[in-house]
Amino acid sequence: MSALLELAGLHAGYGGVRALRGIDVTVAEGEFVVLLGPNGAGKTTTLRALSGLVRPTAGKVLLAGRDITRVPGHRRTALGIGHVPEGRQIFPDHTVLENLQLGAFPLRRDRARSRRLLKEVLDLFPRLDERRGQSAGTLSGGEAQMLAVGRALMSEPKLLVLDEPSLGLAPLKVAELFAYLKRLRVEHGLSVLLVEQLAMTALKLADRAYVLERGTVALCGTAEAVAADPAVQSVYLGAE
Ligand code: ATP
Repeated sequence: MSALLELAGLHAGYGGVRALRGIDVTVAEGEFVVLLGPNGAGKTTTLRALSGLVRPTAGKVLLAGRDITRVPGHRRTALGIGHVPEGRQIFPDHTVLENLQLGAFPLRRDRARSRRLLKEVLDLFPRLDERRGQSAGTLSGGEAQMLAVGRALMSEPKLLVLDEPSLGLAPLKVAELFAYLKRLRVEHGLSVLLVEQLAMTALKLADRAYVLERGTVALCGTAEAVAADPAVQSVYLGAE
């Protein structure tokens, strides 16, 4: 498998805070990778650096071999990075349909393609289809999360990046959302990079995992190996 995404030696920070101190992460075509680690380890900053919301002070971001480190964030969506940020950030006063259409902005000149994608997303999330005319602010937590994922899919990403999508969701809704992610990966060959606190649940879905600590990669390996690691087990097992 060739690398779709490669983060090489990434350093980044906020003022005096050094959030990332040399992060190396790869995601292959069609691979499902999970980023784990305690609060403040640098998971969100890693995602922000790859989608262009934080500028690295050193290191590189490569997408399908192309150096995109200096490409501004708003242009990375069109290159194939779909980011579902922490806290969803949907537009509450717009309808479900309008939120989805806003996600299609990189394709706005290709109306037929956005219509086809809209149909695919509504087929994937029938609940969103039922609520298409409703304002997004009235959706339940699980539906809002599906909308955030659906909106990212409207840009036809090659890599879907999700920051703690389970936050605030009931366990059944988390299972439903993760089942969708699995389907996307299996049926659409999408690559996924997921930051998740529910480590053991995420490891069941993932191919590989990275554990971050204080801005560095403390551990990486197959999801199976990471799940079996004694240090990981002592922190996460029984916590879910
Ligand atoms: P969490 O699970 O709590 O979201 P995380 O692993 O995603 O944690 P980051 O949010 O990437 O961690 O934070 C890494 C470090 O950068 C932390 O020390 C954090 O306090 C700091 N940090 C994050 N965002 C900012 C900001 N906007 N300004 C200043 N420092 C920040």
